[in-house]
Amino acid sequence: MNSSNHPALRAEAVVDLGAIRHNVATLRAVAAGAQLMTVVKADAYGHGLLPVARAAREAGADWIGAAVIEEALALRAGGDTGRIFCWLTAPGEDLTAAVAAGIDLSASAPWGIDELGAAARTTGTIARVHLKIDTGMGRAGATPEDWPELVRVAQAAEAAGLIEIAGIWSHLAMADDPKNRVNDQQLEIFQAAVDDAGALGVRPPFRHIANSGGTLRLPASHFDLVRPGLATYGLSPFGRAITSAELGLRPAMTLRARLSVVKRVPAGTGISYGHTYVTPVPTTIGLLPLGYGDGVPRHASGTGPVWVAGERRSIVGRVCMDQSLIDLGDDPVQPGEDVVLFGPGDRGEPTVDDWADAAQTINYEIVTRLGARVPRTYVELDRTGGATG
Ligand SMILES: *Cc1c(COP(=O)(O)O)cnc(C)c1O
Repeated sequence: MNSSNHPALRAEAVVDLGAIRHNVATLRAVAAGAQLMTVVKADAYGHGLLPVARAAREAGADWIGAAVIEEALALRAGGDTGRIFCWLTAPGEDLTAAVAAGIDLSASAPWGIDELGAAARTTGTIARVHLKIDTGMGRAGATPEDWPELVRVAQAAEAAGLIEIAGIWSHLAMADDPKNRVNDQQLEIFQAAVDDAGALGVRPPFRHIANSGGTLRLPASHFDLVRPGLATYGLSPFGRAITSAELGLRPAMTLRARLSVVKRVPAGTGISYGHTYVTPVPTTIGLLPLGYGDGVPRHASGTGPVWVAGERRSIVGRVCMDQSLIDLGDDPVQPGEDVVLFGPGDRGEPTVDDWADAAQTINYEIVTRLGARVPRTYVELDRTGGATG
């Protein structure tokens, strides 16, 4: 593959920002009646926070979603002046910088409202808050029993001029299985919470619950705002059941490297720690300069698929911290040869889902776990989707 402008790099994750724009535009069209929040937590699922957020804004993202305050403030420092929502804090955490920067925050309990009120007093800025109801994820959010109390405490803080209730929100546990009844139950509980708040006089403009799965396959979950993360990166939240292509999405990341060493070895050669692989015949072994220190899962020892010189090969023996080994058979491969671990899959190269299978995990984890040692480089391969291309 020659899409990179940096052919001498040892290894890189090439991110196609055109694909990100295309996917954002696709998600906007799918949920045309709602606003769109592009979720960029965890360094944009490994794709790079600021480049992805900028591409998403260019393609029409109304909101950017971050998990933690550090991510939200990094977006502001990077020049993003739009609406940003951030939902994960711990008691006692300093909220003043986020409130002063106009970040929308979440509260699941009265103490969260108190802390936001205190930050509002300190900064002289009204804190915007989205009240979270736990509709069946069992994670953050007030239980339905505690919900009226949260709404009343928030209402009092709003009347005191400290906060603005901007939203009511929740999170789906089973959106990867759109037909599952749990989705309907969660939407019912959500609607009841919205109605209860409305009966108390609290009717914020943004009701939101949909992640990628909800955005793509549960129109009843769209409400005023959808929050897709994974689909932004062109990956399917439905595993093998519905592919990226079927969803009109384009995988954005290609992980590639160059073979550091290529050598001929005799039959019976033990390969890597523990000699879990011993060459059955004379063969050529290639050294891939990536290992679990870069995020290549050690669970993919002996199974991780790679694409070398137009053929699928496999990692053999144990994945080491910095290096892995590939059995190249009798192919006339040279040191420096390009290896693609995963890409969109168009040319036969493995995909993120193939790696997820090899490591017995999900596609989310394969891209998110890529380490800081792997440089991200940015290209524009697909210019069909973006507002500004
Ligand atoms: C991660 C996350 C999302 C996005 O989920 P995807 O399945 O990646 O679309 C949305 N909302 C919240 C609260 C999240 O934690």
